[in-house]
Amino acid sequence: MQRMSKTLTVLGIETSCDETAAAVLRLTDGRAELVSDVIRTQLKEHAPYLGVVPEIAARAHAELADLTVKAAMHDAGISYSELDGIAATSGPGLIGGVLVGMMTGKAIAQAAGKPFIAVNHLEGHALSPRLGNDCPFPYLLLLVSGGHCQFLEVRGLGDYRRLGSTIDDAVGEAFDKTAKTLGLGFPGGPAVERLAEGGNPAAFALPRPLLNRPGLDMSFAGLKTAVARAAAEDTMNDDRMRDLCASFQIAVTDILATKAALALEAFDPGEDGTKRFVVAGGVAANKAIRAALDDVAKAAGARLIAPPLRHCTDNAAMIALARALSKARPGTLAPGRDPAGRSMKQRQNQRPSTERAAGAPRPDQAAF
Ligand code: ADP
Ligand code: MG
Repeated sequence: MQRMSKTLTVLGIETSCDETAAAVLRLTDGRAELVSDVIRTQLKEHAPYLGVVPEIAARAHAELADLTVKAAMHDAGISYSELDGIAATSGPGLIGGVLVGMMTGKAIAQAAGKPFIAVNHLEGHALSPRLGNDCPFPYLLLLVSGGHCQFLEVRGLGDYRRLGSTIDDAVGEAFDKTAKTLGLGFPGGPAVERLAEGGNPAAFALPRPLLNRPGLDMSFAGLKTAVARAAAEDTMNDDRMRDLCASFQIAVTDILATKAALALEAFDPGEDGTKRFVVAGGVAANKAIRAALDDVAKAAGARLIAPPLRHCTDNAAMIALARALSKARPGTLAPGRDPAGRSMKQRQNQRPSTERAAGAPRPDQAAF
């Protein structure tokens, strides 16, 4: 007898940081098809403050959430009654935005009589390479963004192990703070990368914290401070700016590449023997870092997979996917638990409740 294939259609909503996003995804026999995918970034709103301001983010989400969902449903060409479920990011993230997304999702679910599920943002990132359908479990994930920097072993749905993470700043945050020190604007990563291209990476001797220690934890705060000190002590001109950016970028690249080599050594590829190494997050856009990680992967006999940038950064497709996969295999997803295995309550207890403007640690980072 031929097996009937079941299709699940899910609306996902993401509002945990500075992107308001909604997407409709169809899952048929484990294969994901993205039917619509709308992402509205708030870069312009936050740029004058050189960082994400939670109050501004919350207001922007409140203004845009319903319009973004409407646009995603319109692009998909379906009605709410055709959905099998609705998902929204429940954290970690900035609480104002998270509340907007959760309430929007719950209201739609209630009105349409559909099930709602809260999705952990980091679980979305962990599963995002599977949007491309060519990344079977297990894989090693390096998540490098403005709020996160960690190695995750993704063995299956709901089966995640954090192998190491930054003990202070996230790597994107280090780029942003370096750019702030040098007056390059926000977001800092692309600006630092542009200047680094014409600079001498050996011009400034910058530290590589934790590099010679065993384990996969990383640290970027000392590096950021060293950049600020070097800039203050130097007669900075355009050439020296380029040199400092190049010296900073090579230090970050060394740290990530060295730790990635260790992580790949420790990673068990399972039965099929293929080591898959995924790099995701906004910093994955950096060409020098990507090339170095590619070299490390090749040396370890691994395949580097970099999802399209649109799905490396915050997006709702990954939230819809996490929801659809959990529905397809009930009982495998534990909403409210993060990939490091701690409960939402524990995370909230650890999270500072202060505002984050330029230079301040991201509220969601303390827990990861
Ligand atoms: P988050 O939403 O956690 O802030 P994203 O995944 O949206 O993170 O990525 C944004 C981060 O990526 C910012 O810190 C930005 O500076 C960094 N970034 C973007 N492009 C680059 C690049 N080319 N090189 C280095 N960092 C980059
Ligand atoms: Mg973002």
